[in-house]
Amino acid sequence: MHIKIENLNKVYRGGSYAIKNLNLDIPNGMFGLLGPNGAGKSTLMRILVTLMKPSSGRVLVNDMDLAKNRREIRSMLGYLPQDFSFFSKLKTYEFLDYAARLAGMKNSTARRSAVEQMLEEVGLFEARDRNANKLSGGMKRRLGIAQALINDPKIIIVDEPTTGLDPEERIRFRNLLSTISTRDVIIILSTHIVGDISSTCDNMALLNAGNLAFAGSPQDLVKEAEGHVWQIQATEKEYLEINEKFPVISTIPIDGGWEVQVVANEINGYYGEPIAPNLEHAYVHFMENNLNQWTKV
Ligand code: ADP
Repeated sequence: MHIKIENLNKVYRGGSYAIKNLNLDIPNGMFGLLGPNGAGKSTLMRILVTLMKPSSGRVLVNDMDLAKNRREIRSMLGYLPQDFSFFSKLKTYEFLDYAARLAGMKNSTARRSAVEQMLEEVGLFEARDRNANKLSGGMKRRLGIAQALINDPKIIIVDEPTTGLDPEERIRFRNLLSTISTRDVIIILSTHIVGDISSTCDNMALLNAGNLAFAGSPQDLVKEAEGHVWQIQATEKEYLEINEKFPVISTIPIDGGWEVQVVANEINGYYGEPIAPNLEHAYVHFMENNLNQWTKV
């Protein structure tokens, strides 16, 4: 699978650009779309799942133009929107069966076996007779991904996948997506949470105010931050100054002061040393240096 986005623009009524001249290649595997709120992620997702038309530009899926082959491309798509919710009365099993019917699976024997297999895959087989709206947040998210996957889609689009999940469920959900990403599929994960991207994605793009700020591997982004993340041993007084001067990533109390991790090109005069950056550091560094905007993550 291969998605190619060419000169894509989306202008909402009132004239504001949600996507500005976007060019992006998305290959097989897990692709992370990262950016602060308002970056244009949901707009791009909606265009990709054919819920919205771009103002100009085009999207090619395996060289097929999305605008001209909507039906064919739709049949390859699985989508888990951010605000996914359930019909109140359906049991977990019934909900997935309903989703399978909507996806065009008419043969009831084949459908039953697909539904059961999918319930196993997402770890909900034991909960199949529970009302879908009574499941825990993490289980609902997994049922959401199950409905997106039921018809064996080639492109899976997941919007803000881990919002509201506890850390254990978050890891479980990411692992589930990782397992699926080894097939001949594209999984696009849209998120403002750096941790969703770091552990799982092969490639990523960083959007800001509708612009593509970075495209490459998470490792490439991390490399750009090398030498720009520092661990400083600071006194109480220094800590207050540092907090004013630099984006602070973390603070740990130590004897006589604080151990502070900051993103900075140099730490003029403070006692500290550069440390190996992670993706969260790299994101902050990138936002600081390239976009002149400090965004908390
Ligand atoms: P993200 O998903 O990254 O938070 P969005 O795609 O939701 O970003 O929004 C991108 C920009 O487009 C924002 O400035 C937002 O206010 C604007 N926007 C989103 N939807 C609409 C809409 N229906 N009408 C007008 N402006 C919109």
